[in-house]
Amino acid sequence: MQLIIERNIYDTMLRAATAAMPLEACGLCGGKDGHVTRFYEVVNADASDEHFNMRPEDQFAAVKALRSEQLELLAIWHSHPATPARMSAEDLRLAYTPDIVYLIMSIADPATPVLRGFTVAEGRDSPVDIVVPTLSD
Ligand SMILES: [Zn+2]
Repeated sequence: MQLIIERNIYDTMLRAATAAMPLEACGLCGGKDGHVTRFYEVVNADASDEHFNMRPEDQFAAVKALRSEQLELLAIWHSHPATPARMSAEDLRLAYTPDIVYLIMSIADPATPVLRGFTVAEGRDSPVDIVVPTLSD
């Protein structure tokens, strides 16, 4: 499985992750056919550095915006300010949306951000190939 993320979306995610430091940032990704073209940042209602909880009104507004643009919800994104881009035990426990990619951006090393994607089934994660086209593509 593969998810293509537009370069400007990737840059927006990175800005959101950096701006939220030292807390986790979160958001929803929309698009079509495995191609992410929209990113909606959602307020982390937990204001935590180790987990996130999307503020319901923001989450609802993002889903509504996706529908109005006839896009699918492709991925749920959040940042790991100080830990690697892996699903934590908490992330796995709360990953109950099937057929969606969980994106984690680690900025533990700010000079080398890492974005990884996973699908989760029966409490186990499988990697998803993340492609961010370079500007010359
Ligand atoms: Zn996490």
